[in-house]
Amino acid sequence: MHLVKTSATPHIVILLLSWLLFGNASWGQTDPSAWMTDPNIESHVEQLLKQMTLEEKAGQMTQFSIGTPTGPGTGRSDYKEMIAKGLVGSILNMTGASETNAMQRIAVEQSRLHIPLIFGLDIIHGYRTAFPIPLGLSASWNPELIERTARLAAQEGSRDGIRWTFHPMIDIARDARWGRIAEGAGEDPYLGSAIAQAYVRGYQGQNLANPDSLAACAKHYVGYGAVEGGRDYNTAEIPERLLRQVYLPPFEAAVHAGVATFMSAFEALNEVPSTINSFTLTTVLRKEWNYRGFVASDYGAVGELIAQGVALDGSTAARKAALAGVDMDMESNLYGPELPKLVRSGAVPEAVLDEAVRRILRVKFALSLFDKPYTPEVSDSSNAIPAASRELARTAAEQSFVLMKTAPANGAPILPLNASVKTIAVIGPLADDGAQMIGSWGGKGTAQDVTTLRAALESRLRQSGGRVLYAKGTDLLGNSDSGFAEAMKAAKQAEVAVLALGEDAPLMTGEASSRAYLGLPGNQQQLLEAVVATGKPVVLLVFSGRPLVLKWAAEHVPAIMEVWFPGVEAGSAMARVLFGDVSPSGKLTTSFPRAIGQEPLYYNALSTGRPADKVDLTRPPANSEEKYHSRYVDEQNSALFPFGFGLSYTTFSYSPTTLSATTAFASALNQGSDTIRVSAEVRNTGKVQADEIVQMYIRERGTSVARPVRELKGFRRITLAPGASQRVEFTLGRDELRFWNIDMKNIVEPAQVTVWVAPDSTSGTPAGLTIK
Ligand code: BGC
Repeated sequence: MHLVKTSATPHIVILLLSWLLFGNASWGQTDPSAWMTDPNIESHVEQLLKQMTLEEKAGQMTQFSIGTPTGPGTGRSDYKEMIAKGLVGSILNMTGASETNAMQRIAVEQSRLHIPLIFGLDIIHGYRTAFPIPLGLSASWNPELIERTARLAAQEGSRDGIRWTFHPMIDIARDARWGRIAEGAGEDPYLGSAIAQAYVRGYQGQNLANPDSLAACAKHYVGYGAVEGGRDYNTAEIPERLLRQVYLPPFEAAVHAGVATFMSAFEALNEVPSTINSFTLTTVLRKEWNYRGFVASDYGAVGELIAQGVALDGSTAARKAALAGVDMDMESNLYGPELPKLVRSGAVPEAVLDEAVRRILRVKFALSLFDKPYTPEVSDSSNAIPAASRELARTAAEQSFVLMKTAPANGAPILPLNASVKTIAVIGPLADDGAQMIGSWGGKGTAQDVTTLRAALESRLRQSGGRVLYAKGTDLLGNSDSGFAEAMKAAKQAEVAVLALGEDAPLMTGEASSRAYLGLPGNQQQLLEAVVATGKPVVLLVFSGRPLVLKWAAEHVPAIMEVWFPGVEAGSAMARVLFGDVSPSGKLTTSFPRAIGQEPLYYNALSTGRPADKVDLTRPPANSEEKYHSRYVDEQNSALFPFGFGLSYTTFSYSPTTLSATTAFASALNQGSDTIRVSAEVRNTGKVQADEIVQMYIRERGTSVARPVRELKGFRRITLAPGASQRVEFTLGRDELRFWNIDMKNIVEPAQVTVWVAPDSTSGTPAGLTIK
């Protein structure tokens, strides 16, 4: 997959070309970035800009949240008067066609230049139809499916007046302590880039101008996932090469997918708050990537520059953020009052405001907001989620589940559950909690829309003449064991116990939800142990927004499946997978640690000079040969469940990896004139049809800088009937083999390359390629 364009065409050439190709009427549907250089839009923008006062310019650069009557710190509630004066460019957190239309009418009819507002909202994993949380969706390794979820979210959100979503969140996250790991696609830049583009395509649709398209927002730019200790809003230290190698690629991929906006991050990156980081905001984003959409600050982040210690007052904060390249001030109420004064005093060139306003208006024109500022107010009395939307949500949930362990219990395979099972104990605080299934950033999803595990299994067993014995057991954060006896009784009376345990989604996942412990919260671990002690076969369903430490469970529970927070179709998807209507097929996109002390833990690490791969790490070192390695004396180095890992109800065999050539030349690869084909034959050796996610990894050695022990460079989800096989082919070319080298050049170097086609990041047979 080629995710990254290589050459930057000067704007003027693009502009000329698009004049020639499309005239001034419309822009092509196939180039997702065409709106950025549309001559028609550009001329409208310039005409408008000429007429704007300084206050109106700063107004376009101002965004307020409606959820808060006087936005925290803004001290304002007179939004309507401000909008009428042209002093607001965007509103966030307002939903509903009649509500947004009422505000829009003020902007369009009462303001001097009639510039429409753009309404933004965090539509993160569905709007009305809640899909699995993004980390769960990423475990599907299915960009096409993810694109469809984003498309549906855009259709639903735009009907409610929203034309801008603050998503995709494409922060690479290597630390499970960070709560926002739930909002992204995990730890890998290659997969993360593919998923970033899928979201952008889905939200923005065929053409941004369509009324059901949303402007997407690549966030949080950049390095936010690397906050120290996994503590939210904390500092991140990322050397430039690592930034380019790991953290920037998904953002660059989003640019190539035509993403309309960016959001700068909260954290200070290398001591410079992202809100004023001109290296990332201007040097990389504008000069290297030629990006022409606009950048919004994160919520209140311009004002937070004072707490971060780089501004003593709001005026300085506004000046520094605007000069660095933040075009819109979300909720700090500093750009509006300060920027006109700063321009008049000569501290900020007016050209800075002009450029920011151009970028903002460009997006508003691209969205056709000037032609169609209002949202049709159609009353939908049924207000039910359509069956097709539910089906998409169910498929997404099914593909997101990761089967992490399945062992026989009492001599028989425990999963899939036997269709003739008559009694199932359904135990745990997440078995019947609809609100939790929606996860953080729930959009308009409601608990009433959700089928819970309990409801789905009850309805299924009712049809087959069986029954569910439900016991909550404990609360999510409970410390009383008063419900344990009932839970154990249910387990004893049943043929199998399904436990629904995990995190409290609003409290523990998403923003401001960092954790210092990664076990099951409250006394859920004790509940699990009590139920396992009954001797009944146990299936553990783990609901979480992050990797948890599941070491005890991995040793004592026969079946474990990670189900994240699965969305509106949680119950039906879990029931179908538990009973084997469909095989689990998700694979992990984040490494699950054995112990919290391993964090940050990620598969694509560098090798040390003292790798411990030949040492028995399951016990403390017995002598100095075993000790002086890069290791823990009290835990293994490896993940408990590694990146790319996930089991199925069938088994797959992989043939050895084959390459179309075993030598290649760096010069030809760098010119893009050579590629190597990599393939392996994958066979379904089991008894049921299932999907398999086939992955290609490489390792490069002999290079000017150290490269990871493995890097994902290709993946494909395939479906195989029992006994069927398929040769899965990938290509290795410039985009897969190059990296930022010792001279900070992004090139292919001579190297010894090991290539694996494998079911996960730890297996597969290696093949060798020499790049001369
Ligand atoms: C979050 C962003 C979000 C914004 C608007 C901030 O607190 O960091 O991800 O888009 O709020 O709701």
